[in-house]
Amino acid sequence: KHRPQLTAADYVEGLRKGDTTILGQAVTLVESLLPEKQAVAQEVIEKCLPYAGKSRRIGITGVPGAGKSTSIDVFGTYLLDRNPADKLAVLAIDPSSERSKGSILGDKTRMEKLSIHPRAFIRPSPSAGSLGGVARKTRETIVLCEAAGYNHIFVETVGVGQSETAVHSMVDFFLLIQIAGAGDELQGIKRGIMEMADAIAINKADGDNVDRAKIQAAEFQNALHLYPLPPSGVEPKVTTYSGYYNLNIDTLWHIIDDYFQAVDRNGYFQERRRQQEKYWMYETINEQLKSNFYNDPEIDDLLRIKQRMVLDNKQSSFVAAGDILKFYFDKLKKTD
Ligand code: GDP
Repeated sequence: KHRPQLTAADYVEGLRKGDTTILGQAVTLVESLLPEKQAVAQEVIEKCLPYAGKSRRIGITGVPGAGKSTSIDVFGTYLLDRNPADKLAVLAIDPSSERSKGSILGDKTRMEKLSIHPRAFIRPSPSAGSLGGVARKTRETIVLCEAAGYNHIFVETVGVGQSETAVHSMVDFFLLIQIAGAGDELQGIKRGIMEMADAIAINKADGDNVDRAKIQAAEFQNALHLYPLPPSGVEPKVTTYSGYYNLNIDTLWHIIDDYFQAVDRNGYFQERRRQQEKYWMYETINEQLKSNFYNDPEIDDLLRIKQRMVLDNKQSSFVAAGDILKFYFDKLKKTD
């Protein structure tokens, strides 16, 4: 029953050959919280880096029920049909996983066609840890998938602002899915998310919804005109489509393809990736400092004591924080 332990080189060799089982195991390794697994995972990622980066990374967001899984299934299949050499990985960042320990996104069963497609790899959201931790793992998974030859990466999220920011920081193109005829949609979206979108696609433009969807599209287009041109230099596009009835999927594809051609020409593609690298350096530091701090059992004990004191008005928040941090830094010095 004992499976032989794979080395970092085994993982890389396997996934480079296109072995999806090994790729899946490598992703599990990256997601592991065990320090010894983390060490191998980092080695795998480093070995994959030279082969990574050559994909179109696309973020997809929308409220639950917007039709993300339906659309990804249809759009993904469309992409793969266009070119028999293409491969698609669908990843997810589920902000609720932190609380529920379960993932509602990226579930294979939600994507009927892609889940059985030989050139598609679907992976649900990492389920453990903070949003920062989950996002970092997803970003590392992108590297593994790219090294395995996946040249389209979709990162799906549903969220409350923060997870969209996390996804935006790891993709080249950010697609916001809206629903036709869902009331005064414009009021419901946070401005920050509108500003992040490289395109807004209004789904369910079918049957009775078509006219409403078109009106809504015009409203979105007008609203977007009020914003300054994004740093990509490409004006965000708005379109209507139907994932379920497979309508206008080619329009969506052209919007995305035109964008990639434009940012390739004007240099923004590389510039955005460079900025993201910088962002992720700081994110990784922040995230690891935090987890190192909060996962320390002694700190945990001290936090409980100090929290009580602050709640009971026996110590001010600043003094309590100062004491805890001093304890932590002193402890670090001792372990040197
Ligand atoms: P998600 O939660 O964003 O992943 O949304 P789903 O893809 O699960 O879709 C939610 C519901 O909307 C399902 O019942 C779908 O069948 C339906 N739906 C999705 N896309 C369309 C569409 O283009 N037109 C119509 N009429 N219904 C759709």
